[in-house]
Amino acid sequence: MIKEFNLRVEPQIAANEASLKHFICLEKGLKGQSVKAIQVIKRSIDARQRKVFFQMQVRVFINELPQEQKIEPIHYQDVSQKAPVIVVGAGPAGLFAALRLIELGRKPIVVERGKNVSDRKRDLASAVRMHHIHPESNYCFGEGGAGAYSDGKLYTRSKKRGNVQRILQIFHQFGASENILRDAHPHIGTDKLPRIIANMREQIIASGGEVHFETKMNELIVKENRIVGIVCENGKSWQGPVILATGHSARDVYEL
Ligand SMILES: Cc1cc2nc3c(=O)[nH]c(=O)nc-3n(C[C@H](O)[C@H](O)[C@H](O)COP(=O)(O)OP(=O)(O)OC[C@H]3O[C@@H](n4cnc5c(N)ncnc54)[C@H](O)[C@@H]3O)c2cc1C
Repeated sequence: MIKEFNLRVEPQIAANEASLKHFICLEKGLKGQSVKAIQVIKRSIDARQRKVFFQMQVRVFINELPQEQKIEPIHYQDVSQKAPVIVVGAGPAGLFAALRLIELGRKPIVVERGKNVSDRKRDLASAVRMHHIHPESNYCFGEGGAGAYSDGKLYTRSKKRGNVQRILQIFHQFGASENILRDAHPHIGTDKLPRIIANMREQIIASGGEVHFETKMNELIVKENRIVGIVCENGKSWQGPVILATGHSARDVYEL
């Protein structure tokens, strides 16, 4: 038999499987031996009062074992010979667009005005210590986009949502903790986010896509009222459909 319960437990109980089992058995009148497994479905922290609690939704397997539910990782195919799509910007929108293009059998060519996520870190350190702001490599520009060096909270109050669970699964596939699949307020962590972003880029390249840093798009090629390509400040240009994933910070893009 499988039963689902909503629980309000102290943090030390939530953090320890054996304590959680003991608590559930006491609270719900179950025998210890009959509980074969506990799955945490959702978990959030209630810190409104002085005493902090975990609000949990759990699935308890009584006298039966859970069937293994493996999340199948997305397979990213080889798109090196496929028709290209240009993605301008390697923020979250650009990186996820590039990965989706690979799934759909198109070759993403990502151009990013800033530096890769680790070189960018040096410019951020210089901004903090020397108050020197690099115009193309800063808190807004560079691989990972705005907020790549924030604390990596993954929740939104926006009501206009797509498939949030799928996005969390992709983050997990590229190295984020499994906890983000359950937590009501998922959180990746500043220390982990850069590696996850780099893993995404490595996958794009391994699948035959291209990622060009320090490559600022400064012209859209328009033919018969249609955007058919881009020209970049360093003289490079590409032809093909264009996804503009340049975020809110790149005001110059709106002035093109
Ligand atoms: C300090 C800060 C902290 C944040 N913390 C969080 C948080 O914890 N959780 C959360 O959910 N959200 C957070 N946000 C918001 C979040 O970062 C944005 O919602 C998100 O980055 C938007 O993604 P995007 O890909 O649309 O745009 P962006 O992240 O802005 O990415 C756009 C990318 O395009 C590149 N680009 C722009 N113009 C060009 C061009 N002409 N040529 C080539 N490349 C170009 C930029 O360099 C950039 O990398 C934070 C934002 C900031 C500024």
